[in-house]
Amino acid sequence: MRRTLLRRTRDDDHDESAPDEGLSNRRTAIIVLTAALPVLIGLYLIALYWSRPETYGEEIRLDEFNTMASAGRIHDAVVLVPDSRVIGESDRGPFWTAFGASETAMNRVLSALEGGNVPTTVRQQWGKGLIMPLTSLLGVLLIVDGFVLVFLLIRGRGDALFGFGKSGARQLQSGESKITFKDVAGLDEAAEELAEIRDYLQAPERFLAMGAAVPKGILLAGPPGCGKTLLARAVAGEAGVPFYSMSGAGFVEMFVGVGAARIRDLFKTAKATAPCIVFIDELDAVGRGRVAGSVIGQDERETTLNQLLVEMDGFEMVSGVVVLAATNRPDVLDHALLRPGRFDRRVTIDRPDVKGRLGILKIHARGKPLSDQADLEVVAKRTPGFSGADLANVVNEAALLAARRGRDEISQPELLEAVERVIAGPERRTRVLSPHDRRIIAYHEAGHAVVSAAAPGADVVHKVSIVSRGHAGGMTWFTPGDELMVAARSQLEDRLMVLLAGRAAEQLLTGEPSSGSQSDIERATVLAKRMVAQLGMGKTLGPMSLAGAAETRGEAGLSPRLASDLDEEVQELLRVALTGALAVLERHQSVWEALAQKLMDDESIEGPDLELMLDGVRSGSRPSRTDSDDIVLG
Ligand code: ADP
Ligand code: MG
Ligand code: ZN
Repeated sequence: MRRTLLRRTRDDDHDESAPDEGLSNRRTAIIVLTAALPVLIGLYLIALYWSRPETYGEEIRLDEFNTMASAGRIHDAVVLVPDSRVIGESDRGPFWTAFGASETAMNRVLSALEGGNVPTTVRQQWGKGLIMPLTSLLGVLLIVDGFVLVFLLIRGRGDALFGFGKSGARQLQSGESKITFKDVAGLDEAAEELAEIRDYLQAPERFLAMGAAVPKGILLAGPPGCGKTLLARAVAGEAGVPFYSMSGAGFVEMFVGVGAARIRDLFKTAKATAPCIVFIDELDAVGRGRVAGSVIGQDERETTLNQLLVEMDGFEMVSGVVVLAATNRPDVLDHALLRPGRFDRRVTIDRPDVKGRLGILKIHARGKPLSDQADLEVVAKRTPGFSGADLANVVNEAALLAARRGRDEISQPELLEAVERVIAGPERRTRVLSPHDRRIIAYHEAGHAVVSAAAPGADVVHKVSIVSRGHAGGMTWFTPGDELMVAARSQLEDRLMVLLAGRAAEQLLTGEPSSGSQSDIERATVLAKRMVAQLGMGKTLGPMSLAGAAETRGEAGLSPRLASDLDEEVQELLRVALTGALAVLERHQSVWEALAQKLMDDESIEGPDLELMLDGVRSGSRPSRTDSDDIVLG
């Protein structure tokens, strides 16, 4: 409710043309009005000079004049209309006198002159009749000019604060961004997804004709320096449409309402120039989850966030505006931002694997004199955990080193030294695995993959990687089979086995459990408990819901016997699963080791390569791949 209200008032008081157009109009107006000011003042002074009443000789009082006229001491008089003055010659010389502007006053003067038989002329001052209203008109114009100018200047000052043009979004006109997908390496999946957006922006009508729903908001999420901003700019370069970019931090200013006003302006411009892209970098600066209890700056961020939500809801999918946003903290984002119709599509930007790193190194070596013996592949292999920005830095450091050494080419020693500098450098935040950890993680992930290939009830593995992410050392991606609405006990047991395969692998490799499988074990435990307590799959407990059992006993919860039975059953399930996993790994040791070795070399393996390696392990029929969300195991 509050949001609709908000929107209505906002729309009402801001109903002008596009803000940048308004701004340049205003600037012209200020210039014209300022230039007009001296001209008006000059004209006014001239008019004032012309319209001043005439004088002649000495001024005499009206009563004196009347006495002198009746005494015949005035020889000659001219009555000025509309000056309401008499000038003339008296026995004392030239004189002037003023009388009231009324008709009676003039009649009295005229009859006095007549009474004294003074030769009298009445002079109609035609010019004055025009000049006097002109003078008032100029006076009014002068005042109006001044007022409007002051008003515009004050508003202009306000606009520097609230405005779009001066400190707001950077706008790239269509075709202005020279960056394309060719400048981005190692993010093929993400680029593919964004290519769809490019196609849409190039011909929105075609998509509309098909009735296709194109996402309004896409969130690029990933660690810093891995190319989120770069990728967004590449989309702009590819699509050839206007691109408005703004950083989330720029929305949150110290003045209340500024952020919201900027968002409003940004979207208004975007809608006026659709199709176009709006890019909000560092979305988390605005979009952090709302926390109870106000901190300073909290209100401002909240109004800004509200405005963003209003704008996201306020345009149609057909409008041709696509909003991209980047963040390296997707976890802290307000959930309202991620709802359907807002940033409901997420594109994950990962740290590059060895192939990606090679690609990135090649991109940054472009246009630099690279020696023939320089081997970027070796550099790529030595830089696990490096972000794209780190790699760009490596190439740059190497170039600096080569220059300092007076070389005319960058060769291998410089490159390798640059790697060390970047690792040791103060800005290094990414985690580089020790060879020992790398080996354990490779075997762990390979273990998940091999066991899942051997377990008919488990999901299909489609990618294994040891590129670190968040807390997890590596990742194994599963494509779920037919979503298990009804899962057989054996299928769930297979899942348990796959979950514990990482632990089994570590145990086989080092002879003891290690800390790398914490989250696997947690998940396995939750699943096992659910099987016994909720699904009635316990061997001794049988088809019994423990929640139901607890209910019949009221407050007290489970009886001690049931509770200990539950624990035993869960432990038994997990123990059996671990034993199963150990057995599979021992049986398929060669495949397991080959896969782990491959992971240590290439860091990730997926698709047909992976299938080929796991072929020997496969047994039973596989459920077909579906498009549901991937399951990821650490
Ligand atoms: P993010 O926005 O994710 O923090 P950026 O896009 O700002 O990272 O990347 C910083 C710089 O690092 C880029 O300008 C580019 O030079 C380099 N870079 C990062 N990722 C890549 C990549 N995938 N391919 C090529 N260069 C990259
Ligand atoms: Mg960035
Ligand atoms: Zn694991």
